[in-house]
Amino acid sequence: MSPTAPTLKLRYAATSDTGLVRESNQDTAYAGSRLLAVADGFGTGGAPASAAAVEAFRRLEDGGVPAGGLLNVLADAVEEAERAVCDAVAAGCAPGAAGTTLTAMLWTGSQLGLVHIGDSRVYLLRDGELFRITHDHTVVQSMIDEGRLTPEEAVSHPQRSLLVRALGQGADPRAEMRLQDARSQDRYLLCSDGLSTVVPDDEIRRVLTAPQEPGWAARALVALANDSGGPDNVSCVVADVVTAG
Ligand code: MN
Repeated sequence: MSPTAPTLKLRYAATSDTGLVRESNQDTAYAGSRLLAVADGFGTGGAPASAAAVEAFRRLEDGGVPAGGLLNVLADAVEEAERAVCDAVAAGCAPGAAGTTLTAMLWTGSQLGLVHIGDSRVYLLRDGELFRITHDHTVVQSMIDEGRLTPEEAVSHPQRSLLVRALGQGADPRAEMRLQDARSQDRYLLCSDGLSTVVPDDEIRRVLTAPQEPGWAARALVALANDSGGPDNVSCVVADVVTAG
């Protein structure tokens, strides 16, 4: 092992909460030594849809992933997840049936492969700065991109959760995929919109910069969402890149 390339690993926690308004939790959150994932199911059968999407990716934890082929492996897993979601939902893939977002990261030992469909998000805390590294696949975000809406107007837009991409429901399932270089002391947050809709970025940053374990941060973020009325299911996965040993 070269002294310039220390072995890195993830320290992680996942938490998911129904919130204060919804009757059930249709989110699925998962964190393991190689996989981090958040899926936000919607429609009747949203819970099995989000669970099926995450389950399709959990299989990747077992096999060794060739670093060079990571994006291909992820693309195959997205196709498998799409099929699994349609199988899990009674109405299949028909428009109007249930569907789910999926935002996942697969750890290779030096990189994280990112897969993103929908409006769950990934934030990266690096050197004390918070970066959102995913783009929402929503109608409202498209309008912001086209200059037809300001981010401030988007916050209260009645259709802010309308998705342009999702798994299932006959929606556009194209995933955004990317490799992310891992650095020691990076901290990642994967969250459903139940967090980002009601908790502003500076509050998220404040919690993530506290010198606390991932589990504490994930629970503190969920508590903040519920303090803001908990209008939606809320899921948080927090993972630190740390030196192994
Ligand atoms: Mn949601």
